[in-house]
Amino acid sequence: MKIAVYPGSFDPVTLGHIDLIKRSHRLFDKLIVAVGNNMSKKYMFTQEQRINLIKANVQSMKNVQVVPDKGLTIKLTQHFDSHIIIRGLRNSRDLDYEQSIANINHHLDPDVETIFLLARPKYQAISSSILKETFHYGGNISAWVPKNVLKAMNRVQKNHEE
Ligand code: ADP
Repeated sequence: MKIAVYPGSFDPVTLGHIDLIKRSHRLFDKLIVAVGNNMSKKYMFTQEQRINLIKANVQSMKNVQVVPDKGLTIKLTQHFDSHIIIRGLRNSRDLDYEQSIANINHHLDPDVETIFLLARPKYQAISSSILKETFHYGGNISAWVPKNVLKAMNRVQKNHEE
């Protein structure tokens, strides 16, 4: 059984992430989407909210499981008996960053390979952080995020205004 792990912050999940999930779940018997919680990061959504926002968009993909990643991704891959990490590449900046992570993960567990999927051109320019900033200043981001994410972002903004 080929099991792959797709780790990330997903704060919040974008259509770029969903595209990667759709493309990679077909390549493996099982795809684990691992939602991280980095202590030094300030998130818009809690880990549980981020998980639920993804779950609602992957229901039709029966071999996709969304789980919390509580520590090192490599430990999670070992827990699920997986040897494959999926990451996305949008540009050369991603490549520089991802190369370091992949090398460290390989050092931690030589059995693990990181596989990169190139972002499709229409999703190349988007990241969760750019979308959060655009949204914060009133920009329309509906082309880039699932409907439930846009609703959740509107709710958070409303709560802040109250
Ligand atoms: P992290 O904080 O771990 O970088 P992200 O949620 O920002 O988490 O991204 C998770 C993974 O998805 C990363 O490999 C990132 O390069 C990839 N990714 C992010 N946005 C896109 C996109 N628009 N298209 C393809 N891959 C993406």
